[in-house]
Amino acid sequence: MAQIIDGKAVSRAVRARVAQETLALKEQGVTPGLAVILVGEDPASQVYVRNKEKACAEVGFYSEKYTLPADTTQAQLNALVDELNGKKEINGILCQLPLPPHLSDKEVIARIDPAKDVDAFHPENVGAIMIGDYRFLPCTPAGVMELIRSTGTDLTGKRAVVLGRSNIVGKPMAMLLLHANGTVTVCHSKTKNLKEICRNADILVAAVGKAKFVTEDMVKPGAVVIDVGMNRENGKLCGDVDFDAVKEKASAITPVPGGVGPMTIAMLMQNTLTAAKRQNNA
Ligand code: NAP
Repeated sequence: MAQIIDGKAVSRAVRARVAQETLALKEQGVTPGLAVILVGEDPASQVYVRNKEKACAEVGFYSEKYTLPADTTQAQLNALVDELNGKKEINGILCQLPLPPHLSDKEVIARIDPAKDVDAFHPENVGAIMIGDYRFLPCTPAGVMELIRSTGTDLTGKRAVVLGRSNIVGKPMAMLLLHANGTVTVCHSKTKNLKEICRNADILVAAVGKAKFVTEDMVKPGAVVIDVGMNRENGKLCGDVDFDAVKEKASAITPVPGGVGPMTIAMLMQNTLTAAKRQNNA
């Protein structure tokens, strides 16, 4: 049976490290500040934003929350981003996605000052990740890397397969695995022989958004399996991996909940701390 990777424990360790560094930074007169923008009333987004506020308080950050009505115009949203870009006490800006359909994710992301883009979604930061010269790592993929490291796995020369090619998870995930010397294959909805490709993976990262998509026959014995998926099945949160069957075959596996989810917020805290340090030459 596989080692169950405890995302809550790894996340706690990252947040404790951030809290300790924040204390030291405050002694130099700098308090990291994060602004979170929420447009509309999506219940899942409300939960994520609440958790982010809570995490900020726990590590000793200053935070601001902007809740805008669902009929906010692009011009109003852009104006808020401009205001936050110029605000000295705010080091990181995050606009919770998805936005209501009449608003453009792309426009908001491009408007955030890249130095304050703690989600690492701005094209300048995406480019920096590509060439391996980055200020921030994208939160979810960076969290996955921490979880893989926590198992003691050295990625050098290993075959890593990423299921999914979104800009938020799949693509940056592949890039981080590549930087860690993995031999990386990215699969998507048009991939042929998907099962066979997965069966060759030493590290399998699933970010598809389909409950129990990864079945036991897709997993190599001894593989490290990371489940990014967050799906609802009969009202219950579950991942992209058929956990009960796959855990009998993998050497290590993340559960859902309690795996990748807690890491995303921890890495956001890490990025906000980095932003505050860089903006204050601390
Ligand atoms: P997304 O934008 O919907 O991307 C899904 C990807 O899966 C796409 O690249 C798609 O391929 C691929 N795909 C869909 N069906 C497939 C199939 N049958 N075979 C192979 N590939 C297939 O989703 P996302 O934003 O990357 O998120 C993925 C999952 O991670 C979701 O469950 C989301 O909720 C979760 N998530 C979790 C966290 C966290 O903190 N734990 C953070 C972000 C996302 P095409 O490109 O060809 O369409």
